Amino acid sequence: MSIRLVDGRPMQCKHIPDDVFLEAVRRTPGTGGSNNWRMRWEVQAALEAQLGHIPERLFLAKARQLHDARKLGGCMCGCRGDYHLTEECHDGYCCRPMPSKAST
Ligand SMILES: [Zn+2]
Ligand SMILES: [Zn+2]
Repeated sequence: MSIRLVDGRPMQCKHIPDDVFLEAVRRTPGTGGSNNWRMRWEVQAALEAQLGHIPERLFLAKARQLHDARKLGGCMCGCRGDYHLTEECHDGYCCRPMPSKAST
């Protein structure tokens, strides 16, 4: 397996700008409805169309990073995904604010 190199180093999360990832989610057609879920592999395909091949592990790590930053909602376990932007979350059960322990 080949690992994509960026400036001679293996590609890392920081090589995928947050906005580029979130834009890929935004332009991926969703399931509609109030949450408009995007399938993981469709988001990955949209991102790869722009950046080239992205190892799945890296893609998932980046998704998790954005989830921790509360920019992306859904399931981060690596199954079919179900991603959406937190700003698109209208019933609020998955992207609601964390308990205040994470207030910094
Ligand atoms: Zn899952
Ligand atoms: Zn949500």
